[in-house]
Amino acid sequence: MATFDFSRIENEQVRAVFERMLKVNTVAGAAVQKAYGKAKKPVSTIFVDDPVFNASASLGQSRYLIKISASVPLLTAMLFGRFFAQSAVMPWLTPSDEAVGARNDTVQFITDPKDFGDRDVWRVSLTNERLIASAKFADMCLAFIALHELGHVVAGHAEGTRHYYGRAEFSELFAVGSRPTDQRERDQSWEYDADAVAVVLLMDYLDDLAKQKSGLTKHEILFDKDKDLFTQLLSFMVIALFVLFNYIRGARYDLELATSHPHPMVRIQYIKDMMVHEARKRTEFDLLLFLDLIDQRLEEAMIGLEE
Ligand SMILES: [Zn+2]
Repeated sequence: MATFDFSRIENEQVRAVFERMLKVNTVAGAAVQKAYGKAKKPVSTIFVDDPVFNASASLGQSRYLIKISASVPLLTAMLFGRFFAQSAVMPWLTPSDEAVGARNDTVQFITDPKDFGDRDVWRVSLTNERLIASAKFADMCLAFIALHELGHVVAGHAEGTRHYYGRAEFSELFAVGSRPTDQRERDQSWEYDADAVAVVLLMDYLDDLAKQKSGLTKHEILFDKDKDLFTQLLSFMVIALFVLFNYIRGARYDLELATSHPHPMVRIQYIKDMMVHEARKRTEFDLLLFLDLIDQRLEEAMIGLEE
């Protein structure tokens, strides 16, 4: 599959989504390789020209290669654009209705129409506050996806795929019926592994996000500055993933593709538990706040997903 050159994307905001996602794996990939020493090959992450929401990890001659469909950042940005356009989601943010037609407050997710179909699909009108929130949620999800693929590499699944199946690539979505039951069980345990690694790597990512000075004014709309920012970011992460997993589930049924991941409700539950396990190593982590925020936001997310 051809490499997708995201520098071709004219919309600066959309291009930046790709850049940020790539940076997550550049930073975490280097940290992982440093931890392993020379025994582990370097990891490269590229985007490929694939309209299907998919990702894969493989082992080449000199490096590991993570491929992410160009549709992943695009559809994720669009998903959260639509999600945050609803006033039920984070109801304290200025509702989008008031901003429709206000040019300065409107974003248009328009990209190269060659591969991504109908332009109208990309038009999402958001107030500035809702735009910030949707960008943050999309970024967090994309970071998780990037780190999940890195998790497959760290856990040795690229080698495992070659060893057990004689295939080069371990991919998230595949044709229905192409994997027998015994493979499915192994593959599912690998998905749990990759999520577990992703959660650990995510802690550093969220730490960095919490420390970003430049975004503080933006944060104030979304966060309570008197409470631990890391905890609040982590709770958003759970909600963002909940929305994403449900979306992917619908998309794969539409595309008639299969996945080895457990059901979104199951997956989000154990990811949340693993997050709590990791986060409790920090003195500042506020478990009650975390659980409280998840409860509040899940209610809104359920409404948001029904729309
Ligand atoms: Zn996976």
